[in-house]
Amino acid sequence: MEKRLNIILLGPPAAGKGTQSQLIEKRYAISHISTGDMFRAAIKEQTPLGKEAYQYTSTGRLVPDEVTNGLVKERLSKDDCKKGFLLDGFPRTVIQADVLQEILSSLGTSLTCCILLKADDELLIDRIASRRVCLNCGASYSIKTNKPKVENVCDCCGAELVFRNDDRPESFKVRLEDYHKKTFPLVEYYKKKGLLYEVDALLPIDEVFENISKIISSLLDR
Ligand code: AMP
Repeated sequence: MEKRLNIILLGPPAAGKGTQSQLIEKRYAISHISTGDMFRAAIKEQTPLGKEAYQYTSTGRLVPDEVTNGLVKERLSKDDCKKGFLLDGFPRTVIQADVLQEILSSLGTSLTCCILLKADDELLIDRIASRRVCLNCGASYSIKTNKPKVENVCDCCGAELVFRNDDRPESFKVRLEDYHKKTFPLVEYYKKKGLLYEVDALLPIDEVFENISKIISSLLDR
């Protein structure tokens, strides 16, 4: 039987989780689940979920667990996740990690690994100023190192690229602080379970991806 890949991509904001997720999704044909993208889509469509999420995302704060955990459970229960999934932006706290474990047990599956994208804060702050994203397909660009072919237009879907509201310095600071306080403990959490693998996120995009691929291939060969 083919091995199922259930992966978490962990790392600070702007470490490149979205970009690497799209590459992993393509190469390994697994479903990319980004809670941030799900919230942004709901906000754009002004659904009740979007209106609630906006109160938090607009200032860089975490959306409450009652909202987030239910959304993830519903998404992971969908058929396309049976072939494997890549979680990007979830879990972000130890409580969410415990909830994820419960969800996966109830679905009769478990995690393959957690890949940490490592990067220093100063470099992330520098990187965030040049980030532009596509709110339609989730693709991410840098106007310095990973420019779109046409200025402000997404290469993947042709939609307009924007500067994310929560990438403004005051919100980004809150997100970084939250990462260190609430999300970083997950490194130890998954290390203890023997599931943690680390990658330097500041290398060029293709090198980061090759290093991630080496980890995934070694797990597939086991
Ligand atoms: P991201 O695109 O992963 O940086 O997420 C953007 C925003 O969505 C975050 O700053 C939070 O406000 C919210 N968000 C995304 N994932 C989660 C999560 N697992 N728990 C709570 N809030 C989240």
